[in-house]
Amino acid sequence: MLDNQKIRSQFPFFKQTESVYLDNGATTQKPQNVIDAITEFYTYHNANVHRGVSEFASNTTALYEQARTKLAHFCRVDAQQIVWTKGATEAINLVASSIDAHIEKDDVIIISSLEHHANIVPWQTLCKRTGATLHILPIDANGVLNLDVSLAMINTLKPKLMAISHASNTLGNILPIQDLLDAAHAINAITLVDGAQAMQHLRPNISALNCDFYVLSAHKMFGPTGVGALIAKPHSLSLLSAYQTGGEMIERVSFNETSFRHGNARFEAGTPNIAGVIGFAAALDFMGSSEMATQLAVEKALYQYTLNALKQIDGIKIYGDLNNNIGTISFNYKDEHNLDVATLLDQAGIIVRSGNHCTQPLINLLGVAGTIRVSLSCYNSFDDIDRFIVALKQAIELLD
Ligand code: PLP
Repeated sequence: MLDNQKIRSQFPFFKQTESVYLDNGATTQKPQNVIDAITEFYTYHNANVHRGVSEFASNTTALYEQARTKLAHFCRVDAQQIVWTKGATEAINLVASSIDAHIEKDDVIIISSLEHHANIVPWQTLCKRTGATLHILPIDANGVLNLDVSLAMINTLKPKLMAISHASNTLGNILPIQDLLDAAHAINAITLVDGAQAMQHLRPNISALNCDFYVLSAHKMFGPTGVGALIAKPHSLSLLSAYQTGGEMIERVSFNETSFRHGNARFEAGTPNIAGVIGFAAALDFMGSSEMATQLAVEKALYQYTLNALKQIDGIKIYGDLNNNIGTISFNYKDEHNLDVATLLDQAGIIVRSGNHCTQPLINLLGVAGTIRVSLSCYNSFDDIDRFIVALKQAIELLD
């Protein structure tokens, strides 16, 4: 059995609770070094960035920009390709609200059936504004993307833009994004990948993926809430008009005319979440630590263990692509409501997510009221899974 105690011991959360935390798709717990980095920022380095000439403020700017370089290194892109946002949702909205000049009436925008609301609604809104139409890549009855039909759709519909998840937050499926991106690029579509769920588990080489835009979220990567990033190819940023205007993103202002800065700076208006960005840098240090070298093996073993245990319980139906998965398992028990099962689990100290997981269209396609979702992370233990399975069996006894 794999020993991930060194990883787990870095999370104060597990020292103050007996609960089993299996809701990592919603947000991950935070290691001590992230909590310390935020406290240290406010204790010793609290200054605004890119403004003051004092050595004190310059040092804070340096810390803030080091975080950008660290993320760039982690994603294998250049620091100038990173725009800080408040999360994946804001990063998608930034693109969808600033790209009107390249979308015309009757253009096609493609997303998949597996998208989070954050990667549906901004495109719907763009379509309403521009007269473009939204088309959806299909899934089978279990929630697995139909790749052949998807590729054929891309080839025949010739979308102007395609926005797809790297991994589904509800089912854990890892999508065949390279095939989809290659097909979209062959017809010169603009591409965006929602990596909110994938980053923690897959750590993709974003330059190699070659998408125009990739979005991520710090709080799903052991970092603070309220921080995320839009990563763009340098040329792709020039497709976007300014998203928000005001301080930081301007070059020169008069009462008659304003000129904006270029590149990523044009998209960072106002005082940013400095403490959050610095906390995120600490989370990246944690992800790059030697203890995390076994992370993938730990997650794979935990996933298989959980899947095998669930499959042995009569009446459990599991959805999604179980062979290509980030370690997120969505299931139901017979006709019992997902909320009833999740409530009984909660009473036993097992924290899972239930409902539609911000993917109402996907849940409707699966023909269910919702699912119970167990989403694993590197610090979960086999004991966590044993306790979850015991609690689930007790819940089933009560419900049957
Ligand atoms: N996309 C996916 C696939 C997600 O799972 C989430 C959050 O659950 C988001 C987007 C939104 O991310 P954020 O919380 O950073 O806005």
